[in-house]
Amino acid sequence: MTDSLIFNAEQIKREISECAREAGREEAEIKIVPATKTVSAERINLLLDCGIDTIGENRVQELLEKYDALDKRFKIHFIGKLQTNKVKYIIDKVDMIQSVDTLRLCEEISKRAKSIGRIMEVLVEVNIGHEESKSGVMPEDVVDFVKEAARFDGIKIVGLMTIPPAKPADFQSSDGVSQKVYNCEAYFKKVKELSLDILNENVDNVIMRELSMGMSADYCEAVKCGATIVRPGRAIFGERIYK
Ligand SMILES: *Cc1c(COP(=O)(O)O)cnc(C)c1O
Repeated sequence: MTDSLIFNAEQIKREISECAREAGREEAEIKIVPATKTVSAERINLLLDCGIDTIGENRVQELLEKYDALDKRFKIHFIGKLQTNKVKYIIDKVDMIQSVDTLRLCEEISKRAKSIGRIMEVLVEVNIGHEESKSGVMPEDVVDFVKEAARFDGIKIVGLMTIPPAKPADFQSSDGVSQKVYNCEAYFKKVKELSLDILNENVDNVIMRELSMGMSADYCEAVKCGATIVRPGRAIFGERIYK
């Protein structure tokens, strides 16, 4: 039997190209980076057949467990909360760290990247809804943060990442997926504006090539607001099963 993830991924690709067209954008400007937490390496490897060659992993331990079984053609982005003392385990395994939110973390990534002769691409995670439960730099602090972080020469800041506030529970649909469509665009637009503010500052060693925003419930809205990376999880793999 064919895994439904292939069907789902093809459908999302079609939807994204449609949303891009509606927004007057090129389909090629948007990369699908599926969030693969809890998904086995065997299933993840099927994504290559759909032309998806980059994945987002959340947890260091889980990534290390899956790493050997993952097809080596994948590029791996780290998209979860990253503790400074764990950078060393993933520095040679990932192509981008999307979830940078402290200067200490920037410093450690920079140091470890240089020690293996690399410059790591990073995105600054923005806590666009000022949520206490979430990580990320507060929006009003992002410009200063980027200026400070830019001095670490083992990293290159290439954009911003965000997870907008979830829709209040009483708005949620029974499948749990189509929630959050209510006003995510307001948040996405603010992140886009922040990236333009940063661009205006002309900071050395900083470019704003990527905007990583949009998950299963809201990737089309994100594309309309300028996303270059979307991170659907459940919409591709089905509901997560935690062991
Ligand atoms: C889990 C996760 C996603 C995907 O969430 P879905 O609702 O399953 O699409 C995207 N980004 C990050 C950072 C995640 O942790």
